[in-house]
Amino acid sequence: MSLRVVLATRNAHKVVEVRRILAEAGLAVDLVGMDAFPDAPEVAETGLTFEENALLKARAIAQATGLPAIADDSGLAVDVLGGMPGIFSARWAGGHGDDIANLQLVLAQLSDVADGHRGAAFVCAAAIARQGGDEHVVRGELRGRLTREPRGTNGFGYDPIFCPDGERRTTAEMEPREKDAISHRGVAFRALAQHFGAIVE
Ligand code: IMP
Repeated sequence: MSLRVVLATRNAHKVVEVRRILAEAGLAVDLVGMDAFPDAPEVAETGLTFEENALLKARAIAQATGLPAIADDSGLAVDVLGGMPGIFSARWAGGHGDDIANLQLVLAQLSDVADGHRGAAFVCAAAIARQGGDEHVVRGELRGRLTREPRGTNGFGYDPIFCPDGERRTTAEMEPREKDAISHRGVAFRALAQHFGAIVE
């Protein structure tokens, strides 16, 4: 029987994505989302870094559920904006999760920025924690540049305006598995998978 691990998110898409990444990494875990724990607390993301926020969520959910918990915090870091939107990526234009408004605001902020200076990275910190036990946090990054217009319909968030280095397509024009193979979340969760043995035994 595979080990039950909870992913600290109520976002069903994220559960599917992380389950796919861990399965491709050869890890046999029964990954459940927070929907299985309706009474668990909402964890405020009060940290100032991706790593702090991922650890806050993993720790709190391990405590609340008694299961090993994994969590991530991710975002877009734009070079000429000094790494912003960063940890504020989901609510850059004000309302939480308004993807179109968020990417339009970034495009407007960069409207005068020349093509050679539009570098950015998708960043993901992934953490694992056990109740009263060890914890680990790792980081994955995908470097690229921002387009001038949104392109593509796959993915979410800033995908339609982000071209990975060495690619002409945006991540919204790539297939999900192609994106996983290079993405910040793929890199971070494959690295985190190396720490599972030490944490969950
Ligand atoms: P969170 O990690 O679920 O808090 O996501 C933070 C925000 O970062 C999302 O709402 C998106 O705006 C952005 N983001 C994180 N990962 C990606 C990605 O893979 N593609 C596009 N946007 C992303």
